[in-house]
Amino acid sequence: MDYKLNLHFHIVAGQQEFQDLLNSTDVKAMYQKCVELSESTPLDTEGKLRGYCVVCEKVVEFSYGWLYSHMEKINFREHLLCPGCNLNNRQRGIANVVFKLLV
Ligand SMILES: [Zn+2]
Repeated sequence: MDYKLNLHFHIVAGQQEFQDLLNSTDVKAMYQKCVELSESTPLDTEGKLRGYCVVCEKVVEFSYGWLYSHMEKINFREHLLCPGCNLNNRQRGIANVVFKLLV
């Protein structure tokens, strides 16, 4: 499996474009994956998810759990941590944008 994805960033110009993005197949599939992982991860436990870290530039086992969540769904934005750089999903996303702007 190729874990190195070309992340897509969207510039949203208004409420309708934001709604359209939320209703897109890609975003719905991502949301469904988050729901499935949340449902299969008991409270107060952690899981692992293999993926590519753009900061470390290698495939890693990200860890996730219920920290920073409201106990309904895991907060993958704030708690999908890379074991190498220890950055969460949001921080790695920002780094990815900066890297793309510098290249
Ligand atoms: Zn990393």
